[in-house]
Amino acid sequence: MNHVPPELKRVVADAEELGVTLLGVCGPQPDAPEELARLEGEYQEFIASGNHGDMNYLAKFAPLKYRAETLLPNCRSVLMFGLNYYREDAVDAGSGRKLDAAPASGRIARYARGRDYHKTFGKKLLHILQQLQQTYPEDSFRRFTDSGPLAERSFAAATGACVTGRNTLSISPLYGSYFFLGEVLSTHQFPDFVTVPAGQGCPRGCRACINVCPTGALSAPYRMDARSCISYLTIEHKGLIPVDLQEALGDMVFGCDLCQEVCPLNAVRRPTTEPDLLMSIAGDAISLSEILRIKTHEEMTARFGGSPLMRSGRRGMLRNACVAAANLGAQELLDDLLRLSSDEDELVAQAAAHARERLIQDA
Ligand code: SF4
Repeated sequence: MNHVPPELKRVVADAEELGVTLLGVCGPQPDAPEELARLEGEYQEFIASGNHGDMNYLAKFAPLKYRAETLLPNCRSVLMFGLNYYREDAVDAGSGRKLDAAPASGRIARYARGRDYHKTFGKKLLHILQQLQQTYPEDSFRRFTDSGPLAERSFAAATGACVTGRNTLSISPLYGSYFFLGEVLSTHQFPDFVTVPAGQGCPRGCRACINVCPTGALSAPYRMDARSCISYLTIEHKGLIPVDLQEALGDMVFGCDLCQEVCPLNAVRRPTTEPDLLMSIAGDAISLSEILRIKTHEEMTARFGGSPLMRSGRRGMLRNACVAAANLGAQELLDDLLRLSSDEDELVAQAAAHARERLIQDA
């Protein structure tokens, strides 16, 4: 770790005690004015091309993205924090087989297997914020963790603690890309600081993430078309999964880790020690038949409440499970799909009818 300036010692210690890392500190804009104009221009292009899909909030809050002072007047410093979420796949104690290799089950992205990080990380940042407020009563602070419009990756890169990989993710030498970003905005000016400098980033010539992406969402280095990203399609997208992309989803029913799994910069990964993230609310994989038998929002909440899966809700998870069932050739689920093809939720009914047709054709 770099030498910690005296003003930041308490923050670093508080963060460590809470199991998070102060990655670094930068000013209220991630770049000099000319570079900022370029960043904002690129982002406008991304929005204008419709790459953000259904995520209309990205367009709405675009002007705030690179300007922390629009979220906290007189903001002078942005303190960026990281929380490691990596967890190994669960392995069956008897056979040594990965549990997500069970037949007819849907895979869950690593970050979503335990409790919702917004709550867990948000509480830790609140604690840090309260300590700061006590130390600097005249100053103001605000915290976010993927809960505001700030371009967290750009600010993380601005501290020097992370690079943005060709897969568009923040990568740190502490965690690889398996970590959450969160930040505290401050009107108190802290010295710029980086805990561990990020280094060079992507090795020359590496295109592993681009090559592995089954939908071509990484259309070029550093360019992500959210509309074909499996994470977007299974979590944020509100309608049917486009037919031409369905097969590429394979058994993934919530998120996707493929561009992380192949990344050589993730060789540094190590399991998180955060109990909330190690819980198995969703776990590595869920039986598709279990998902397809969830009848109501209440049943969904009883089973997955407190986990990120609630973002997709019953209708999203059932839609995704229908696609996975057809992709896996799960003929044993035909009866469930028949029942669901008259579900009162039209999205679920259409997804089930389509999956059933695919299974019958493939029989
Ligand atoms: S897989 Fe290779 S190109 Fe992609 S983010 Fe990792 S190092 Fe960069």
